[in-house]
Amino acid sequence: MDVAGAAATAAAAWLASNRCSDARTSSAWRLIAVAFLCPTIGLAVGAIYVIMGTELVSPSVIDLSWFSYYPLMLIGLLRFPMRTQSRFSKRRMRIDTITITIGTLSVVWYFVLGPTLAQEGASVLVLLAAGVYPIGDVILVFGVVYALTNVLAPATRFALGFFGAAILVQVVCDVAYGWSVTGGQATLGSVVLDLYLAAIALYVIGAASQRPVSAEELRERPAETIDASPQAGRLGRWLPFAIPALVFALLIGAQFGAETYLRVGLAVGAAAVTGLVLLRQFVAQNELVDAQGELSFLAMHDVLTGLPNRALVLDRAAQSLARARRQHAPIAALFVDIDGFKNVNDTFGHAAGDELLQCIAARLKGLVRESDTVGRIGGDEFVLLLDSLNFDVAPELVAERVIEVVREPMQLSAAGNRTVTVTASIGVATSVGESADDLLRDADMAMYMAKTKGKNCTVVFESSMHTAAHDRLLLEMDLRAAIAENQFFLLYQPTFDLRTETVTGVEALIRWEHPVHGIVPPDRFIPLAEQTGMIIEIGDWVLSEACAQGAKWHAEGHEIGIAVNVSARQLDDDQEIVQHVKAALDESGLAASALTLEITETALMSDPDRASARLQTLKELGVRIAIDDFGTGYSSMAYLRQFPVDALKIDRSFISGAAHTPASAAILRSLVQLGKTLELETLGEGIEETTQLRNLQHEQCDSGQGFLFARPLAAEKLGEFLRDVTSPKTPAGSDV
Ligand code: C2E
Ligand code: CA
Ligand code: CA
Repeated sequence: MDVAGAAATAAAAWLASNRCSDARTSSAWRLIAVAFLCPTIGLAVGAIYVIMGTELVSPSVIDLSWFSYYPLMLIGLLRFPMRTQSRFSKRRMRIDTITITIGTLSVVWYFVLGPTLAQEGASVLVLLAAGVYPIGDVILVFGVVYALTNVLAPATRFALGFFGAAILVQVVCDVAYGWSVTGGQATLGSVVLDLYLAAIALYVIGAASQRPVSAEELRERPAETIDASPQAGRLGRWLPFAIPALVFALLIGAQFGAETYLRVGLAVGAAAVTGLVLLRQFVAQNELVDAQGELSFLAMHDVLTGLPNRALVLDRAAQSLARARRQHAPIAALFVDIDGFKNVNDTFGHAAGDELLQCIAARLKGLVRESDTVGRIGGDEFVLLLDSLNFDVAPELVAERVIEVVREPMQLSAAGNRTVTVTASIGVATSVGESADDLLRDADMAMYMAKTKGKNCTVVFESSMHTAAHDRLLLEMDLRAAIAENQFFLLYQPTFDLRTETVTGVEALIRWEHPVHGIVPPDRFIPLAEQTGMIIEIGDWVLSEACAQGAKWHAEGHEIGIAVNVSARQLDDDQEIVQHVKAALDESGLAASALTLEITETALMSDPDRASARLQTLKELGVRIAIDDFGTGYSSMAYLRQFPVDALKIDRSFISGAAHTPASAAILRSLVQLGKTLELETLGEGIEETTQLRNLQHEQCDSGQGFLFARPLAAEKLGEFLRDVTSPKTPAGSDV
């Protein structure tokens, strides 16, 4: 029956091993199967002995097979994939294991080994047999508790729960067995055997309950690296103290009447565990000091790159500044911001972004001397502190080198080994006096200027930037308020057919009525609105307002075109601009063909392929598209042909220039010719003088716009203008 039980457990464990595709879980079950195979064989051989009539003397072949069971079982239990333990808890764990083993040995000595030894004629082997079982059991309890609290897969934890119960039953049995062997309590034997069967049943159920575990499933469970598993601690935490305490309690009890040799044995055990507990405390205290050191490193460093963080950078800067003041030698701070980092993060994921930052951190560290500091103070922001009496090279040159090394392509394994290239914007500030905060703030501000200058460049801080930045901040706040309170209005400047000199349409031009500064022209606030993204909201308002006004004029019988300026930023999201244009047309009822969207040439040429796709979707709405400020943006013929545009608005600079030099007249001629070749409408902007008008008419430019005809006018004024426009050359009253 025993044989069958052990064999059944071995078989159940083997089946569990086959069910699990995770290699470690599978091999753990295989080891457990082999562990149970040992007593299976031992018991079988024992049974044969009995059948053959040979008496089994303890320790028998059965005992020997159980002895190999213990280590195999322990290795098997610890083989399951577990949470990773920190090196700290591993070291303590080792000392604890020795403490518990020696403590248990002392107890076993007192109750079992000692008294047996005192018996006449007991052999050493019998002693060993009696002692090994309890010790083996204690170690197994330790192993199963450890596995239960640290094992990763819940399915395995469930199975090991049964194993824990089985081992407990087994412990009870083994203690009873030890007693029966040494104390001659033979009657206990049959009860013990029944209990063994119960233990075996629990083992079988446990192994059979193991649901399949795959490696992928385990990978999803984060392995905790920090020793913060409270459950793991509970038993493991008090056992190393409880068992020595038990030894001491026995030692005290033994003073009353126990044999001398028992007391001596206990005393030796007590001394050993005391030493071990002291050692453990010593180790724990050292670990605490180390951990504190590690924590303070973490508090001062960036985890991802290992570079000093903002706090440490500021601290180092403060120290350098103190030295700089004494020695009257400046220190420099380079504020490095990675351009397009967000793009990499969004496109390839955070792992790739992290890899990129680590790569850049390594490159930056390679650039500077040991005495200089490279820190990471924000997502994609690095700071270089150049601390020296006199710089080996000027900080600007170091900045150039930074730009070069950042620009080198990077192969990111987290992005499928793709090569990624980014650039850096750098602000440089030097200081001998101010605080570290001021130094970094100045460098930051210069970096910001580098960004606005078009990125991938270096800007050295100047004190005027403070006021510029301050003004900008005020303007930004005011602009937000302007959107909320709708302080904008539109003026309309008519455009004319240059042959007939009649009105063909109007261009809507935005104005801001600032509560304090009065009317602010668009050049003052549109760039800021573009940088901050506020242009999206503003542009949306312009579209609906202009379309509504256009529809009104159409209703009054003036069939004129309405032109609206659209910023590059508004085209970033093609869905958004299409929706806004559609909504403006739908709400106003203006025919799509009456609306012209003006987009500057520079906006189109910064990413011509994307622009081409955007224009195509807009074009499908039925609106017209004009290239604004044409001639200033280096359009290539190839792209001009590809863009679905209807008109070219020739920039003012060519109109005013043409009147005065033959060269500019030639350029104007070729621009108009280009328009004609591409079969586009041509419009001359900024016509102020009659000679300019004559020039354009001579070149057969289709239409024109300028103060000579009319200044931008308020809607009612333009309404009047449309009604009484008799002679287009009579300058109309201005609203600007
Ligand atoms: P733009 O699109 O080139 O508009 C023409 C500008 O030239 C207008 O300036 C207009 O007043 C001015 N102008 C017209 N005729 C003459 C002339 O004969 N001589 C001179 N010297 N100037 C003339 P404004 O209204 O100050 O607008 C400046 C720029 O602001 C516009 O240039 C346009 O790029 C932008 N803008 C205006 N309104 C909007 C808008 O609603 N949205 C966007 N995104 N930009 C706008
Ligand atoms: Ca325009
Ligand atoms: Ca223009």
